[in-house]
Amino acid sequence: MPIKFLDLNRIHQPIKNEIVEELSNIIDTNGYILSDKVEEFENNFSNHHQAKFGVGISSGTSALELSLRALGIGQGDEVILPANTFIATASAVTFTGAKPVLADCDDCYNIDVTQIRNRITSRTKAILPVHLYGQPADTEEIIEIAKDYDLDVIEDSCQAHGAKYKEKPVGTLGKISAFSFYPGKNLGAMGDGGIALTNSQELADKLKFLRNYGQTQKYHHEFPGYNKRLDAIQAAILNIKLKHLDQWNKERQQAAKLYNEQLANLPQLTLPKTKPDRSHVYHLFVIQTQDRDKLAEFLNSKGIDSGLHYPIPIHLQKSYSYLNHKKGDFPNAEKFANQILSLPIFPGITTEEVTTVCKAIKEFYS
Ligand SMILES: *Cc1c(COP(=O)(O)O)cnc(C)c1O
Repeated sequence: MPIKFLDLNRIHQPIKNEIVEELSNIIDTNGYILSDKVEEFENNFSNHHQAKFGVGISSGTSALELSLRALGIGQGDEVILPANTFIATASAVTFTGAKPVLADCDDCYNIDVTQIRNRITSRTKAILPVHLYGQPADTEEIIEIAKDYDLDVIEDSCQAHGAKYKEKPVGTLGKISAFSFYPGKNLGAMGDGGIALTNSQELADKLKFLRNYGQTQKYHHEFPGYNKRLDAIQAAILNIKLKHLDQWNKERQQAAKLYNEQLANLPQLTLPKTKPDRSHVYHLFVIQTQDRDKLAEFLNSKGIDSGLHYPIPIHLQKSYSYLNHKKGDFPNAEKFANQILSLPIFPGITTEEVTTVCKAIKEFYS
C-alpha cells in the first residue's frame, strides 16, 4: 500500500455528513459573506488560542499582510524574518511596501535570536518570527529584543495551530498573530482561509476595516481597504473541524514520537530538535541527511511520499534578488535546503505506516 504524504480523506470522511448538512443550511439561508458563521468561528478560534479577538481573513498571506498594515508598516520600513520559511512570510512584508530583512535559523529551524539585534536599523519596525513546522520560535527572547528597540512582534503561526510556548498557545505572544487555513495545515479549510488574532480592540477594528473595503459603517470608507474576508462557507467548515484540532495534533505528536523512537539509532539522520518549554504540533516531521535526494528517491520507489520544506531559502529566490544576497549569507538555511526531508505525518496515520516508512529508511542505510 502506498503511503501518502498527507491523506485528507482520513480527516474529512468521518465528518463529511456533518459538513454537507452545514453547507445545505447555508444554501437555505444564503449567508455567504461575513455571516454569523464567520463571527462564530472567530470567537471559537480566538478562545481556543486564549486571544481576545479574531478577525477572519481570506488567507494566511493576507492575514500577515493586513496585520503588518494594521500596525502601520509600509514603504520605507524594515521587518526582520527568518531565511528559511515559506515564501509568503516575505511576500506579505513586500506587499506593504516594506523590506524583508533576513536572519539565519537555529538548529530547531526557527529564527536564530542571536542574529536579530545586529539587523536592527532606524527603519526597523517589526520582528516576524515563524513557528516553523509547528514548533514555537524563541518568542520570549524576541519580545525582549522588541521591547529594547520599541518594535512590534507579529507571529507567523501559519504552521502552528494549537502549539504552545510555556503553556501559552501561540497567537498572543506578539501584538498580532496570523494563521492559515490552507487545506494541508493542522487546521485546514476546503479552500483558502486565514485569521489574525490579537488582544487589542484597536487592532482588531483596524483589521476588520482593512479586510472589508476600509468600511467603518455601510458605504463609509475612512481609508482604502481590501476585499480579503474569510469566506462564510469556509468558516462553517472550520467551526466543525476546530472541535477536532486538539485530537488531531495529539495524533501528529504520537506519530512523531514513533518516528523518533524507530529512527533513533541511525547516525546518518538528524531528527527534529525540540525545546522542552514548548509543545511542537508537528505540522511537518523534518529530518536531515546528507543523502537526502537519494533517500527521497528510494522511499518513492517503495510507494512512500515525502516532501521538501523548503528547497530554496528566501534569499536565493529570484523574487528576492533585489535584496542582493549571495550563496553563503545564511549557512544554516542553505544547509537545511540541501539536507531536509519531510516524512509523511497527518492525523490518522497508522503505527503500521510509520513503521513501514522507518523500515524503508533503515533498509536504505543498511
Ligand atoms: C501556509 C503559510 C503561509 C501562507 O498561508 P496561505 O493561507 O497559503 O496564504 C504563510 N507562512 C507560512 C509559514 C505558511 O506555512
